[in-house]
Amino acid sequence: VNAAHAVLGASSAQRWLNCPPSAQLTADLPDTAGQAAAEGTLAHAISELKLRKALGLISPQAFGKAAKKLRADPLYAAEMEHATDGYVDLVNEIALGLPTAPYIALEQRVEFSRWVPEGFGTADCIIIGDGVLHVIDFKYGKGVPVPAEGNPQIMLYALGAYLRYQFIYDIQRVRMTIFQPRNGGRSDAEDRPIADLLEWAEGYVAPRAALAAEGKGDFAVGAWCRFCKVRSTCQARSDYNLELEGFQKALPPLITDDKVGEILRRALDLKSWVSDLEEYALSALLAGKKIAGWKAVEGRAVRAWTDQEKAFAAAKDAGIDEAILYKRVPVTLAALEKDIGKKAFAPLAPYVTVPPGKPALAQESDRRPAIANRPTAQEDFGDAPING
Ligand code: SF4
Repeated sequence: VNAAHAVLGASSAQRWLNCPPSAQLTADLPDTAGQAAAEGTLAHAISELKLRKALGLISPQAFGKAAKKLRADPLYAAEMEHATDGYVDLVNEIALGLPTAPYIALEQRVEFSRWVPEGFGTADCIIIGDGVLHVIDFKYGKGVPVPAEGNPQIMLYALGAYLRYQFIYDIQRVRMTIFQPRNGGRSDAEDRPIADLLEWAEGYVAPRAALAAEGKGDFAVGAWCRFCKVRSTCQARSDYNLELEGFQKALPPLITDDKVGEILRRALDLKSWVSDLEEYALSALLAGKKIAGWKAVEGRAVRAWTDQEKAFAAAKDAGIDEAILYKRVPVTLAALEKDIGKKAFAPLAPYVTVPPGKPALAQESDRRPAIANRPTAQEDFGDAPING
């Protein structure tokens, strides 16, 4: 039963809720979270420290000492300051927006085992005030933007927090916010009564968690597969993607526009599945295993200076102009704003324009409105007449 501890965690809830048997299937596999996860942990530690200081929970001296240690970490990057400052601002904004001083908990372990066998997680920030439970999740990663609406991870944190504090504080409603400084910023879920969340936990989470704990239920392929430890070798995912071959049997010589839509939809997972397979095959081959028909080779290597300073000095001695050795390149608009901050950037605003974005393909569910009757790139260059 102990294995269930790591098995049904909040951070993997989207996966095991959608694909319950994935929980036990991956339970004993080693964690493959790499550098990105370690960077996230460091950014979290910095944000927590900054919040403790902002809330007066530690002295400036203690802060200075602890911050120095974190900033000496080899994974530390200046970008983390901006990101964690943004998170502290957001927490402050929420806390100060309440009529009376709220209760605030940082990095709080919350349990939701009433619905999920041995389910627990760590909520980054919980704020309770004015009958509202605020749950804030800080995500440092920049892979995929995660919307707060309908996000099972933060909903489980909210449920755990509710269980923990319901007898001490009056909690009527829940507000969930995800902050992703490197991925679009703040995302707020719609404010909802706690009863809604409890209904979701009883009706949806509990039965699925029970299946997951027993290793039962149906496999289901979807966006969550990319975080699954068996994403490369999962039979269900392979079947799902290979089913596409069935489309070859389409009879007429040309496929219809309806078919194009259907194939694109079905192929959504295909690209990432193929790169997962490539990654898997390469590491298997490097580990000495056999993958029929494939081998590992040395990729193309790029030349590099052993000592750039000495090489450039030698180039200068040989009469090569400094202007050839170094280029003066303007920084991009986004980089400048990030470096100097929004305030200092404000006077430059009159020189900023936002041209319409290049037409892109998106699914019907995408929030952006549909565009049509725009010249395609080809027509823009006059290769074809525009129908009008
Ligand atoms: S790869 Fe996808 S379908 Fe397969 S077990 Fe993992 S989550 Fe389920």
